Amino acid sequence: MPRFQLYIDGAFVDAAEAFESLDPATGTAWALMPAAGEAEINRAVEAADRAFHDPAWAGLTATQRGKLLMKLGDLVAQHAGRLAELETRDTGKIIRETRAQIGYVADYYRYFGGLADKIEGAHLPIDKPDMEVFLRREPIGVVAAIVPWNSQLFLSAVKLGPALAAGCTVVLKASEDGPAPLLEFARLIDAAGFPKGVVNIVTGFGEPAGRALTSHPKVARVAFTGGPATARQVVRNTAENLAHVTLELGGKSPVLVFADADLDSVSNAIIAGIFAATGQSCVAGSRLYVERPAHDRLVAILASKAAKIRIGDPQDEATEMGPLATARQRAHIEDNLARSVAAGARVMCGGGRPVGREAGWFFAPTIVSAADNTVPCVAEELFGPVLSVLSFDSEEEAIALANDTRFGLASGVFTTSLTRAHRVTRRLRAGIVWVNTYRAVSPIVPFGGYGQSGLGREGGSESVRDYTRTKSVWIRTSDDPVPDPFVMR
Ligand code: NDP
Repeated sequence: MPRFQLYIDGAFVDAAEAFESLDPATGTAWALMPAAGEAEINRAVEAADRAFHDPAWAGLTATQRGKLLMKLGDLVAQHAGRLAELETRDTGKIIRETRAQIGYVADYYRYFGGLADKIEGAHLPIDKPDMEVFLRREPIGVVAAIVPWNSQLFLSAVKLGPALAAGCTVVLKASEDGPAPLLEFARLIDAAGFPKGVVNIVTGFGEPAGRALTSHPKVARVAFTGGPATARQVVRNTAENLAHVTLELGGKSPVLVFADADLDSVSNAIIAGIFAATGQSCVAGSRLYVERPAHDRLVAILASKAAKIRIGDPQDEATEMGPLATARQRAHIEDNLARSVAAGARVMCGGGRPVGREAGWFFAPTIVSAADNTVPCVAEELFGPVLSVLSFDSEEEAIALANDTRFGLASGVFTTSLTRAHRVTRRLRAGIVWVNTYRAVSPIVPFGGYGQSGLGREGGSESVRDYTRTKSVWIRTSDDPVPDPFVMR
């Protein structure tokens, strides 16, 4: 069985403890993963702190840092096959998707590499004739980056990229579920030539590893992606170190379909939003609201397409939907669906384990008709291939239903009316609105949520600033003696 190691201070090392990682397609152990404890987390943070001050890193120019990131992007592209295979093996995400996503990961590193020498300070027009004042933007310090299991390489890139562009050092904690691709990615950090300790990659359990990392006194910045309950613990942990925190959390994203939309084309976007990655996506378009005249026809198209989705071995190129990543995840979905049916929801297709897929954690693409937003499958994040469908009678009602949630990550609007697209876009309370498309990403575009979906934005040029702090520098230009020392100047 392959055995993976932690990457601390430029070296691959074992942890005192290890655990078995399970293949979601078969449910059997396939690799041994290191479980970092407090001792390993302390070593990783100490290494990152030393590297932060070491001239081998701190002495590089911004352009030199950018070149290292560009090289990392190239290496990710070169090793995409191996990384994709490992991610598919350890998380069950289909190989077509992991390979495509890793192509994007390479682009994200190149994008942030390009930004490294565009982090500019400012000269301030101070109202004092004998002073020059300027702002320096300096790296904030050691970053604790925490990612969940569903897209570890991708979600790491939006943290490591801006952190390294800004000159920070990082301890990245992979999830205990599916950490193989990140532990393998550590080899590319080494090959790209980052000085030792600049990036440290560990895996381990939320308790103790996640807690020890996010509360460590030498951590200045926490970049977290995960669920809202863990986010609250992370925020509590940072009461210890007062680190600056960004949170990318869950969602229950609404998709509004107006009767004027082209339903055949819309159906593909809806399927991409809920059944791609087996629905294990923070932006999953899991609440579908359809204008009443189009409701029955759209549901019929969706049910017929859902029934034809090829479920199977995630390593097979032909597979369209793989298993869920963990048995825990499937149990969560089954529990929610049982409660939803008890609350009056009607299963239109799927609703359980697909026939002939007894091994592994498969779940059929599922469409559920629900009466209102209080039904559990409409109200709670499932993180699985379950689409809840409701209908509406007016634009006003559609907006009210869409905004009736504590989340606010993504949303979709399908209409051929330009005026309506603008009106609805303005009023949706979500960090992302896709119009006549869904689940598109780019390093250039900020990503993040409203409400319980998070705090801060990842991606886009502004995100690099989040890893810096300003220093105000006052320079007196007069050689005369300092005037009255007892009065503030
Ligand atoms: P969790 O919140 O359970 O875990 C996220 C990460 O936090 C994991 O690495 C986990 O480690 C770690 N962790 C757990 N406990 C602690 C702790 N006390 N202190 C610090 N870290 C801790 O989320 P899931 O792994 O279940 O991921 C699914 C969630 O992530 C969903 O809600 C989804 O919407 C959200 N998500 C949000 C995205 C966004 O960009 N908005 C993108 C993707 C997912 P371990 O795994 O070892 O428990």
